[in-house]
Amino acid sequence: MLTNPTQQHARRSLGTITEAARAVDVIHETDVLVVGSGPAGLSAALAAARAGVDVTMVERYGCFGGNITAVGVEGMAWYRHEQTVEANGIGREFETRAFEMGAAVQESQSQSYELDAEGFKVVADRMVEESGMRAMLHRTFVAPIMDGDAVVGIITESKAGREAIRARRVIDASGDADVAFRAGAPTHHTPREQMMAASVMFHISGVDKHAFIEGIKADPQTYKDWAGGGEWNIETGGKEDDMFSPFLRKPFQQAIDDGLIPAHLSTLAGTWGAVHDTGELTYMNLVHLANIDGTDPDDLTRGEIEGRRQAMYALDALRAYTAGCTGARLRNFGMTLGIRDTRKIDAQYNMTEHDVREQARFDDSIGIYPEFIDGYGILILPTTGRYFQLPYRNLLPKGVRNLLVAGRSSGGDRVSHAATRNMSCCAVLGQGAGIAAARSIHDGSELADVDIAAVQKELDRQGVRFS
Ligand SMILES: Cc1cc2nc3c(=O)[nH]c(=O)nc-3n(C[C@H](O)[C@H](O)[C@H](O)COP(=O)(O)OP(=O)(O)OC[C@H]3O[C@@H](n4cnc5c(N)ncnc54)[C@H](O)[C@@H]3O)c2cc1C
Repeated sequence: MLTNPTQQHARRSLGTITEAARAVDVIHETDVLVVGSGPAGLSAALAAARAGVDVTMVERYGCFGGNITAVGVEGMAWYRHEQTVEANGIGREFETRAFEMGAAVQESQSQSYELDAEGFKVVADRMVEESGMRAMLHRTFVAPIMDGDAVVGIITESKAGREAIRARRVIDASGDADVAFRAGAPTHHTPREQMMAASVMFHISGVDKHAFIEGIKADPQTYKDWAGGGEWNIETGGKEDDMFSPFLRKPFQQAIDDGLIPAHLSTLAGTWGAVHDTGELTYMNLVHLANIDGTDPDDLTRGEIEGRRQAMYALDALRAYTAGCTGARLRNFGMTLGIRDTRKIDAQYNMTEHDVREQARFDDSIGIYPEFIDGYGILILPTTGRYFQLPYRNLLPKGVRNLLVAGRSSGGDRVSHAATRNMSCCAVLGQGAGIAAARSIHDGSELADVDIAAVQKELDRQGVRFS
């Protein structure tokens, strides 16, 4: 469904008011402005800074990291196995840097590190400081500054009121294509009833690690055990079926059977991330809420409250039926509800199911991504060395100049989204966007005409595999 700003969800209107026109202070000017600091935005800003331009990153919350730190999504690369071939680059650096700083542990099902959502805040702080970029937390993008069809800056809202920032290039890494949408670029808004589930993520403490691990060993779950509706009803490629998965469903089913939790909570199911010596069991990805549109604050309100209710029921079930969890208590919820898809831009090239399943190749590749598809009822793990390339045109919105869109809102169909939404892929897209924006500043070229060979040379210098 193609939408524009006037076609948002029908909301009851009690009339309108007209705001008075006002002068807004221009508080800053920059070469490359990045909106959002998730895996895509943080990678874009770091890459552009490393490519030698002046960079500013604007983030609405009080920490960098996007879903990693704000939602508590700790599985950066849980798909990685011996044969997996990937781009490396800044996404991989997030893992290794976090491990070096004591903010990651070995992940349970893969050859990757599980990030510590809290510790990663400090990792990101260090990377931002080292890069020399200008970071602006606690400022929310609210409107683009337009000169014809070109974005030439943004307006932010914060405790300081409304402020303007001029920028020669803007990278939209908001996850929801906020800048592209407000600038009038065509976007695809997944219909609410077809959106991937939203999740309240939580972390618990007071777990007896030894007993918990013994319980998992006694009844190991595999990917073929995934069930519970939404994210967890999947078709695999077959080769995944007997591989270990840190999946939990039995405790919740038992709790329903015994009347401990309401029967409608049959959707409670999912994965745990890491169990720590200190008794913390983190990245509890168990709550899945349908019909939540992440661009609708009323849906978000409903999702936050219902999600926390369901998380507490999940905790009751874990205490009652999971080895090592008798004394468990809530440590914390993610700072915000986790959203998996909303808007995607209609890009110069939109990724397709065929591309991600059949190893697509592109002349304007800005990075590779392994054949990893997770979502919309499909799970394919990259156990074979197959991979696809990501084209630069995927970041270019139609109809608007000076703007790139990186991360989960880059262009593509449903199944391609189940691949490209993953954090390490968002990091690849972000790094490519940052380098391309920097190149266009150096050359004085339009983003649409950027010298791809020069971009690829810089990708190579920054350690990104693109072919
Ligand atoms: C519950 C859940 C579990 C998941 N599990 C996994 C997993 O195990 N592995 C995996 O790889 N992926 C997982 N994903 C998907 C992945 O987390 C996201 O697709 C990915 O983080 C998207 O990266 P991004 O940089 O595009 O956006 P985000 O991570 O969403 O970052 C966007 C950033 O922009 C900021 N922002 C948004 N709007 C504005 C604005 N108007 N002004 C200023 N700042 C703004 C946000 O605060 C945020 O920091 C999961 C997602 C969810 C919700």
